[in-house]
Amino acid sequence: MPGNREVLAVRYGHRVTSFAESYLNFHLYAEPDASLEIDYYFWLIRDGDQVILVDTGFAPRVGDRRGRAHHTTPAQSLPALGIDPASVATIVITHAHWDHIGNLGEFPNAHLVMTEAEYRFWTSPLAARGHFAAHAEPDEITGLKRSHQEDRLTLFSKQLTLAPGVELIEVGGHTPGQLIVTATIAGAGERPARTAVLASDALHFYAEAERDRPFAIVADLPALYHGYDLLNDLAREPGTHLVAGHDPLVRSRFMAHQAGPDVTDLSAPR
Ligand SMILES: [Zn+2]
Repeated sequence: MPGNREVLAVRYGHRVTSFAESYLNFHLYAEPDASLEIDYYFWLIRDGDQVILVDTGFAPRVGDRRGRAHHTTPAQSLPALGIDPASVATIVITHAHWDHIGNLGEFPNAHLVMTEAEYRFWTSPLAARGHFAAHAEPDEITGLKRSHQEDRLTLFSKQLTLAPGVELIEVGGHTPGQLIVTATIAGAGERPARTAVLASDALHFYAEAERDRPFAIVADLPALYHGYDLLNDLAREPGTHLVAGHDPLVRSRFMAHQAGPDVTDLSAPR
């Protein structure tokens, strides 16, 4: 695995929500509700010219409709990182919620990778039921189907090695086929190898795993708990750092990248 690999989080949006809205059955904890900042990110794994994009954020018009403040899209932000959007060959889709697969149209030639369970679910009749449909955009699911017809979509189950030191692991829970990504940066000289675990929405906020408090949106609660166990096990491994999918703490647990305050260097834990 390359030693000059870069793993980055780009904060592309934010919103103020509340604990009661974010945690499943928050009343069980008998704590007063309070406001809670939530960030929206997509992620990049760069090995020189080779760029893997992990999720594509939400489309600006969809964010507007849903009341989320929007900062940028992948195609708008990549040039500042020295990346030509047309050079992005692979996009990992951690799950098919609206805030993770908007803007796929910016990458009409990229190859997409997601779990079979996720794809099958969102193209099944059950996805139209209210508590699922609320978190998806029908035209974006249609876009996934089109990619499948165009042979631009790889589906896998359980685990896939995407590149040396880049593993995709299906965990389910939040959605039927939610996946996490582990990206290892090789050691060099005195510097030991490090692994960034892109948890995406298997872990919106660090407190979910650290305090064993499930997120409010869940398709399979036992799988969600198993996911927290897996993430906590990974976090105990030397040099391994969790990257929560929506937590502003990401920006204090890792160093900011030279590109600006909305880009976080996930190979550099503080
Ligand atoms: Zn999300």
